[in-house]
Amino acid sequence: MKARLLNNKEEWKGSPESIPYRPNRKIIIGLLVLVGLGLSALGFVLWYVPTIGLKNLHPSLPYVFGVIVGGMLAVTLGGLVLMGVALIKGRIVVSSPAFRGVLIKLFLPLMMLVGGVAGIPRIRIEQAFIELNNRLVRETIRRRGRGLAPNRLVLLMPHCIQYDNCRIKVTREVRNCVGCGRCEIGDLIDVSDKYGVKLFVLTGGTVARRKLVEYRPDAVVAVACERDLTSGVQDAYPLPVIAVINKRPNGYCIETGVNIEDVKRALEDLLNPEPSPQAG
Ligand code: SF4
Repeated sequence: MKARLLNNKEEWKGSPESIPYRPNRKIIIGLLVLVGLGLSALGFVLWYVPTIGLKNLHPSLPYVFGVIVGGMLAVTLGGLVLMGVALIKGRIVVSSPAFRGVLIKLFLPLMMLVGGVAGIPRIRIEQAFIELNNRLVRETIRRRGRGLAPNRLVLLMPHCIQYDNCRIKVTREVRNCVGCGRCEIGDLIDVSDKYGVKLFVLTGGTVARRKLVEYRPDAVVAVACERDLTSGVQDAYPLPVIAVINKRPNGYCIETGVNIEDVKRALEDLLNPEPSPQAG
């Protein structure tokens, strides 16, 4: 443990909580139902409109087309049900990277669209997405049956986690930090040493992408706000990312924090996964 420069009376206890960031189940259910209804209506229109012309070509063509559209709709609605089960019951039925791809490429934009129309705050949708993404990544690693190598993981932190008045530049070399205890970077260095993973404090998404290209890790644990995590998980796909939502006692982008236990849990789940109760 690094020496702390604060005296005992001032001992810093970590960032206070900011906003509750666990996804709200009622919102998730409402969102999934709305997406399901929207898709069903779209499926009906996609089937009905062309059938007028198809009937003139051959009387059975509308039925053939109906089976195709109905099949695609059934698969999509099935995916929505699996997402609902994963988020609400915690049971992951399908955990393949491809299913995470469907979540990222198809369901997330649909949830954003429908949620926007229904007036659901964007942050709630992002929280639901992050929760589901994390569950899928964790379950994929569990079903793999063995953890990842520590030197194949990276831990990415936003630079706003640093104490605002700290004069030490940690974005170029995090180990410049002297662990004074005024922000969580000293604790994160301890975590990085304990688990043997690389730690970077980054100034933005472009630098994050560059680090991933440079180090080509097998998985990432990233800390940021919901918006940055959502776009980061999308950009990094198919690379598995466990996203940890930061704390914002002073608002966005200034002296943010993180629950160190959440970071450790994410690393444990990637390095030493528990055997999956759903495997086999
Ligand atoms: S980065 Fe944070 S912990 Fe490190 S020296 Fe600066 S204020 Fe202290």
